[in-house]
Amino acid sequence: MSIQFGPDYVRAIAPYQGGKPISEVAREFGLDESKIVKLASNENPLGVPQSAQTAMLKAAADLGRYPDANGFDLKAAIMAKYNVPQDWITLGNGSNDILELAAHSLVEPGQSVVFAQYSFAVYPLATQAVGGRAIVVAAKDFGHDLVAMAAAIATDTKLVFIANPNNPTGTFLAAAEIEAFLKKVPAHVVVVLDEAYNEFLAADLQYDSIAWVRQYPNLLVSRTMSKAYGLAGLRIGFGIAQPGITDLLNRVRQPFNVNSMAQAAAIAALNDTEFLQKSARLNADGYIQLTNAFKALKLEFVPSFGNFVLVKVGNEDSAGARINLELLKRGIIVRPVGNYGLPQFLRVSIGLPEENAAFIAALTEILAA
Ligand code: PMP
Repeated sequence: MSIQFGPDYVRAIAPYQGGKPISEVAREFGLDESKIVKLASNENPLGVPQSAQTAMLKAAADLGRYPDANGFDLKAAIMAKYNVPQDWITLGNGSNDILELAAHSLVEPGQSVVFAQYSFAVYPLATQAVGGRAIVVAAKDFGHDLVAMAAAIATDTKLVFIANPNNPTGTFLAAAEIEAFLKKVPAHVVVVLDEAYNEFLAADLQYDSIAWVRQYPNLLVSRTMSKAYGLAGLRIGFGIAQPGITDLLNRVRQPFNVNSMAQAAAIAALNDTEFLQKSARLNADGYIQLTNAFKALKLEFVPSFGNFVLVKVGNEDSAGARINLELLKRGIIVRPVGNYGLPQFLRVSIGLPEENAAFIAALTEILAA
């Protein structure tokens, strides 16, 4: 009999399934990499902003040295943009890191964490990795039911995860709903408001979550540079919270979790409002392109506020996997979401107009067969 290492709760973890890399699909299906369209990981179809590329080239010359462990210059850029003090900021190796740091520094084995059904896959993973007990609250119209989530908070709950907009469903909570929730949450329970897709929100939907951080010492807002800022491969995100939480996260954080190139690129990208606006515009146009096609194909979809759309591709539970395989054969990578309990759906990231068109053409052909 072989020895089993580690705690049961770690062995029970089902590893995160990311979008299939282009090179892997090319190998598996014998396709030309340059013809493959990847709409599977909510990346920015514009790629890396030129401003960030220039900053990285400069930073490359100094890679023989360790990064600034405290990210002084990047924190200065974040302070200027969000008007918060330095000791309210935690830098992360992607915002994933922030979510994990929250679980690691706040939850002991056996204590509970509240999150919604169909919310981001890292919430259950981060909970399980620390031996936490997940309290999964049933979704309402594919989104968070904040009234039910407030009611689900138990005496041993230490953490609540909320994604706004949510991934993979794209649903959005209006500011008033979140405020009402924050008022109800006990002061010792930390709320992580994960705003990975915030920059895609239309101006009339934007709200000031940093004002809530000033008001609520138990609120941690998480942001990423992976989506609208086009820096997914560099792994950079950050958390903003009052020092009571920020100090804890920084005790657990690895000192060099954000590398020098990422720090330099993030400073440039944070100040590149032109790129951000271009990304948001492209996304809004692509959303119309995709959803018009879904309407024409009579496919149900969940109205989305992110850079992706959840679409129902059939009524049987094998539909998502079946259509996904047919799309892969045609060189189109999207994301099956059976692991989220949504086997009839696919999540499609919004790409360039020609990428969206290639996906629509392939889907139309598959559905007609
Ligand atoms: N939160 C949500 C809701 C996401 O969808 C993602 C990316 N899939 C992340 C956090 C993490 O992204 P990153 O680690 O690249 O910042």
